Amino acid sequence: MRPWNGRRHTRRAEARPLAASTRSRPRIAVVGANFAGIAAAQQLGREYAVTVIDRSPWFEWLPNIHELLSGVKRPADLRLPRKRLVNRAGHRFVRAEVSAIDARRGRLVTATGRELAFDACIVAVGGVNETFGVRGVDAHALSFKGVDECAEIGRRLAALARQRGRRSVVIVGGGLEGIEALGEIQRRHGRAEGMAVTVVEAGPRLLSGTPPAVDAAVRRHCAPRDVRFITGTRVTAVTARRVRLASGELLRSDLTIWTGGVTAPPLLRESGLADRPRQWAPVAQSLRSRRFDNVFVAGDAAGLPRPLGKQAYYAQQMGNCAAGNVRRALAGRPLRDFVPAPKPMLVAFGDLDTFLVSGRTVLASPRLAALKEAVFQLTMAQIDPPVGAPALRQTTARLAGAAQRLMRRGR
Ligand SMILES: Cc1cc2nc3c(=O)[nH]c(=O)nc-3n(C[C@H](O)[C@H](O)[C@H](O)COP(=O)(O)OP(=O)(O)OC[C@H]3O[C@@H](n4cnc5c(N)ncnc54)[C@H](O)[C@@H]3O)c2cc1C
Repeated sequence: MRPWNGRRHTRRAEARPLAASTRSRPRIAVVGANFAGIAAAQQLGREYAVTVIDRSPWFEWLPNIHELLSGVKRPADLRLPRKRLVNRAGHRFVRAEVSAIDARRGRLVTATGRELAFDACIVAVGGVNETFGVRGVDAHALSFKGVDECAEIGRRLAALARQRGRRSVVIVGGGLEGIEALGEIQRRHGRAEGMAVTVVEAGPRLLSGTPPAVDAAVRRHCAPRDVRFITGTRVTAVTARRVRLASGELLRSDLTIWTGGVTAPPLLRESGLADRPRQWAPVAQSLRSRRFDNVFVAGDAAGLPRPLGKQAYYAQQMGNCAAGNVRRALAGRPLRDFVPAPKPMLVAFGDLDTFLVSGRTVLASPRLAALKEAVFQLTMAQIDPPVGAPALRQTTARLAGAAQRLMRRGR
């Protein structure tokens, strides 16, 4: 039988179980250690030699990073040390940037030239900031992609709020990230004299993909405030003090926040996992790469046969599924399909409102913020069960902080 390492994937290969690795402890590499990568690593037992690689030392809880803008959360609330999570599962964590995945040879190469051999690889690298090639975004706008970036936006907003006269903040993107950012700005600075916010959205309305009632509610909450919404208009350039629109209008901007969503990272194309730039890595429903049998792709990076929303919850589910299928592939057993479990979406709008969206149904109440907080706390505790003094201290501090904030909200 041919080795399965690096064999190019065919349609028939999906149905056919593969030969087991001849090693006593097959080597599994997990590239990317956030929602999908950590879930995968935690599913794999010590019978495998698992190496988990990420460029940064911190797991980051991204669905609540907007709260860094108002200071309701601090960076430490949203981070867990990856080394601890990975070591506790019995695996090795390597902090490095992976610059190439050579599936044919079963090797990863890091930016410093280090090579790492694998029998199977789980690629969970997420996405990168989508700028749509708009001029000036990288140089003049602050992106909304991680904890450091959002903490910096929070600091700049606070500095701006301390100034006098008219100040103008422009949020590019009226999707989930942009509207959650607006909510936090309203929570902290909504009553600051002279602090204006403009939201620019290319689509016809805010929060596309949710019922129009959510767009209407957001506008209603902002009607008495210094907030302007511009929909159906693209941004064409960003400079240090201006945002140019396709309509020709120039907006003054003292702080431009870019929430353009995510696109596929170049690594996928460069490693042959995708055919085109900005294409998510095509996978079968089992999450096995359509290009290489020894690679599985989980989380945002996976291009499923039927596209799915890029959500943390799905990424975790995919991480579990990919790990299970790597185990099956190594044991020569048939793979199982990834079946996404539908889940309602919670959209926070500062202290003004929270929306629970399930299909066409929307529930709205500021009290639902407690539900979003509970999801955060419970999932963080699942990812990092408080075993041992450091984890126990961190969980206690996070819960105490959350309880205090909820009490403040209730007053
Ligand atoms: C602002 C914001 C708000 C969001 N809100 C929600 C929400 O409310 N609900 C929800 O369900 N989802 C939400 N999401 C989406 C959710 O966060 C993503 O779907 C989820 O993070 C995807 O998980 P992932 O593990 O696939 O990728 P990511 O979380 O992006 O993790 C990828 C990891 O790979 C690492 N990596 C990438 N390339 C390399 C490399 N070359 N070498 C080494 N390491 C690498 C990165 O450092 C990172 O740790 C939000 C996202 C953002 C940005």
